[in-house]
Amino acid sequence: MKNASKIIFSSLLILFFSLLSFTAQQQPAPVKASQVKGTIYEVKGGRGANCGFIIGEKEVLVIDAKMDKESAELMIAEVKKLTSNPIKYLVLTHSDGDHVNGLVGFSKGINIVAHHQTRKHMDEAFKEPEQRLYLPNQTFSKKLKLYLGNKVIKLFHFGPAHTNGDVVVYFPDEKMAFLGDLLFLGRDPLIHRHKNGSSFGLVKTLKAVLELDADTFVHGHGDIAQRSDIEGVIKSLEEKQTKIKALIEEGKSLEDIKKIFKVEDRPARPGRRRWLSLVEVIYLEITEKK
Ligand SMILES: [Zn+2]
Repeated sequence: MKNASKIIFSSLLILFFSLLSFTAQQQPAPVKASQVKGTIYEVKGGRGANCGFIIGEKEVLVIDAKMDKESAELMIAEVKKLTSNPIKYLVLTHSDGDHVNGLVGFSKGINIVAHHQTRKHMDEAFKEPEQRLYLPNQTFSKKLKLYLGNKVIKLFHFGPAHTNGDVVVYFPDEKMAFLGDLLFLGRDPLIHRHKNGSSFGLVKTLKAVLELDADTFVHGHGDIAQRSDIEGVIKSLEEKQTKIKALIEEGKSLEDIKKIFKVEDRPARPGRRRWLSLVEVIYLEITEKK
């Protein structure tokens, strides 16, 4: 191929793939349930985070609610394909919109369970009267056991991490857990400082997760994880924290440290909160302690 036609060909290729990803962004993947273990399913696709559910003898417990009514309804349809048992519980892993805004797609009167700080965040965010009908009606601080017939489901809050209201949903019989946004793979962990999240807390929480007798982890925005994935996240997070701490002790400023880590700040989108890089979050946490 001559150079000019090579360039045209590669430009066309780039155009084709950008169009493809643009269409993919516009059209979310179809909502689909897939079995994780036993009667536990993960629900991917639609708008919002990965969710899940467990089919009990008489009822169903759902984990997280997708981001809008339509995606929630499609998730409920997936449940109905597998069982006629009614959805009795909905457990929220935290308060972010992509996990809770689909609540309005569920029938009123189901038990909505969350950490008490998550309820507080939702109480502030849910302005519409329709939404307010879906504020959690059962909250807890550290741990809670739910029973579906004989099956026990353990909910844990190990302290502030992604937010200050994160819940780990643990299924001891199946040795698996739903982690919400406590885990991100292939990108930096996300810490919401405006919801009192903490990177040091995240390390503590992920270590507590590894104390559970579990080998399979569903999380909000990626494929199912193993213990080694969590170990890797802890390791890289601790390395970053140690390095930033040393740089602060050397007298480096936040700007210096951002340059060392090649962090580029993005301007806040209109009406949106400024995005904080993990480096800045860690820096703020360390300097606050002094
Ligand atoms: Zn989140």
